[in-house]
Amino acid sequence: MIQNPIPWPNGARCACSISFDIDADSLIHIAKPKDSFDRLYPITMGRYDQVAVPRILETYRRLGLKQSFFIPAWTMNQYPDIVDAILAGGHEIGHHGYIHEDPSEISPPEQRHWFEKALDVHVRMTGRRPRGYRAPVYNATQSTIDLLIEHGFTYDSSLMADDIPYRMKTAGGALFEVPPHWGSDDWPPFAHFAEIGYMMPVKSPTEGLAASFEEFDAQYEAGGFWMGIWHPFLTGVWPDGASSSAGLNTPFPRKMSGSLRWRKLCPMSMSWKRPAAIGRGPTICPITPNRSPCDRFISL
Ligand SMILES: [Zn+2]
Repeated sequence: MIQNPIPWPNGARCACSISFDIDADSLIHIAKPKDSFDRLYPITMGRYDQVAVPRILETYRRLGLKQSFFIPAWTMNQYPDIVDAILAGGHEIGHHGYIHEDPSEISPPEQRHWFEKALDVHVRMTGRRPRGYRAPVYNATQSTIDLLIEHGFTYDSSLMADDIPYRMKTAGGALFEVPPHWGSDDWPPFAHFAEIGYMMPVKSPTEGLAASFEEFDAQYEAGGFWMGIWHPFLTGVWPDGASSSAGLNTPFPRKMSGSLRWRKLCPMSMSWKRPAAIGRGPTICPITPNRSPCDRFISL
């Protein structure tokens, strides 16, 4: 039961976002900077994003969805074609650090340096400042939130104080939080990456995604919010839609897939600002909330 349910636009049953973190090989370079250049298997595993992202964009194009991608600035510089393709599809690109540095492991001045260096890359490559941020490894610190407010960000998507979007209030201002959940992140079931300390047992798509899709079912029943956090080099790898009954090449819960098929009969906006009729299915939106989704503030 949700104590303070959000009245989703036009009677939507629940809200969903399918977000992607495009880390590519930034992960091995930040983890093993001395010799990462010669660790070819993790480099190539990360570079698989170049194969997976176009498939995902094609799925979104076919379904008419606009969604949110979080990319370290170093990755944007290395793979400008990915950035161009995401922008051409009308999707949002959010700030995800410079080279996936963990904010909790660097000093506030260092964090500011890399945060603002990344901002410059976003402005140069996308023509605008990002509105959203997701901390690498979700490790936002108070300094991170202060930087987001100082630089006029609309939302963060790293913190977990609720299972529906909420507003955070600090001494410097307020910020929307669009909460992730480890249960809906593909990293725990699929990351097999010894160099950065993850050796999760290999699982079938059905088994590995079951927990996340059960999270979706619970939020669907409760009228809440579900957000997938996917890494294309982990789960954007099924070229023929092996991950779902809907023939999609990125993970979608079955009920969402059903509503996507149904959706073709009805207009649906993916914007929180201009929602359209969506009946009893979930509303699927990019993360950027343009209005207050709820009145409750959580103070940091
Ligand atoms: Zn990441």
